[in-house]
This record gives sequence, structure tokens and C-alpha cells, in this order.
Amino acid sequence: MPAPVIEIRDLYKSYGALEVLKGVSVTADKGHVVSLIGSSGSGKSTLLRCCNLLEDSQSGEILFDGDPIRWRGEGHNRRPGDAKQVLRVRTNLSMVFQQFNLWAHMTILENVMEAPVTVLRRDRDTVEALARNLLDKVGIGDKCEVYPAQLSGGQQQRAAIARALCMEPQALLFDEPTSALDPELEQEVVRVIKDLAAEGRTMMIVTHDMRMAADMSSHVIFLHQGRIEEEGPPDALFGAPKSARLQQFLSHSN
Ligand code: ADP
Ligand code: MG
Repeated sequence: MPAPVIEIRDLYKSYGALEVLKGVSVTADKGHVVSLIGSSGSGKSTLLRCCNLLEDSQSGEILFDGDPIRWRGEGHNRRPGDAKQVLRVRTNLSMVFQQFNLWAHMTILENVMEAPVTVLRRDRDTVEALARNLLDKVGIGDKCEVYPAQLSGGQQQRAAIARALCMEPQALLFDEPTSALDPELEQEVVRVIKDLAAEGRTMMIVTHDMRMAADMSSHVIFLHQGRIEEEGPPDALFGAPKSARLQQFLSHSN
């Protein structure tokens, strides 16, 4: 049995009076890829952000690497109670965003090296060697010295993936990594993410790209209005969806 890297149990989260997650449970086992699909507003980004504690939640458990998050307070006052634990979770769950979020005033190499050097305080030369390797791996090894604005969207997103990998995290979280890209640039990013899946990286991916989800997921979760409406292996979910809502959702996506 592979061990869960991330485990969410019966999570509830609201923004003020707006209930966004209503009892969601998700497990991402080591080496597995979990895809989150669902309409806009169904709570996918919120769920991902709860995993790495970028968002608070009001009840339910979050376990990282078997270790339950220790909370202080209850309900809307609930916060993680252990700063060291929060740092451990954040540095081990690297997130890749739709809008790349690269630092415009830093070169690509500096972007990739920044967090391992300043947050993890790793040796600069070691990090630089790793960063150059990772930029090679995502196909932009020749772009180390340029600034983000000089790259295409697909190249910027691949740089953002290299930056996430340079933290040597236990899992990667992707929030619609290809949604901001033109179709032809989308595929170069999909290819990189598929390679990571094939390497056995643990990943949670929010995506609108059903083909990518079908091709590389171990498990697919369909969220609807803050609840898991249906989940299962990709063959079942895409090949024989049971819920009418999922059927309808899939008929509108390509
Ligand atoms: P998805 O990623 O599936 O499109 P989100 O998780 O972004 O959905 O949003 C779920 C719901 O929570 C939506 O109704 C959205 O408007 C609301 N929401 C998201 N972020 C915030 C926020 N920071 N403050 C208030 N409401 C929010
Ligand atoms: Mg979203």
C-alpha cells in the first residue's frame, strides 16, 4: 500500500457565509496523480489551497505525510497552531498557478533558485546545479539568463514548473496550469506534466483539460458545488460516468 502524502478528511470551508467546501475527503498517495475537475466555482482552487494551508478551513482534518495538522481555535477562528509544521507543509507541497507568477525582475535561473536558497537556506552552488538541470529537463535550459517577459507563456509555465521542482517537494499542486495558454503552447506544458506523472511524482491537478486528466490520473474527482459528486479511476469516470451532473459536465467539455 502506498502511503498518503496528502489526506483531507471531511473538510468544510466557507468564506464568511458562503460555504465552499461541504465535507470533502481526498487522498493523494505517494506516486499517484489526483485530478480535480468541475465547473467554475465548484471549489477546486479552494480545495487545493487548503491542502497547503494557503486557506484556512473550519472543520475536518488535513494530514501531510501522515502527520495531522495541529489546529488552534475552532470554526472561523481555526488556524494552524504550529508554524514549523506549516512551513514543512508549504515547502513540501509546491504549487504551480495558472498565471505562472514568476518574478519579473529576476532572470529565469534566479526565479528557480530563489526559494531553495532563501527559504530552505540550501547551498547556492548546489541549488544552481539543480536549477540548471531542471530547466534542461523542461526544455528551456538555454533560457537561464533571460527575464520572464522574454519568454512565451508555455516557456514561462515550464520555468514555473522547474521552480516548483527545485524545492524538491514531496508533491506538486497544479491549479489549471494550462488554462492561460494558447492551444499550441498548452501541449508543451502538458507533455512536461505527463513526464512528471510517468516519473512517479505525487501530484494534485486542477484542470479543464479532460484528455490530460484521462491520460495521466490515478484518480479523478468531480466536484460540484463544494461536494464530491463522483470519483474514481479515469476509465470509469470518463468512460462510464454515473451522475447526470457529471455526464452533463463532460458533454460540455472537450
Ligand atoms: P473553482 O476553482 O472550482 O472555480 P473556487 O475554489 O475558486 O472555485 O471558488 C469557489 C467559490 O468560492 C466561488 O463561489 C468563489 O466565488 C468563492 N471564493 C473563492 N475565493 C474567494 C475569496 N477569497 N473570498 C470569497 N469568496 C471566494
Ligand atoms: Mg479555480
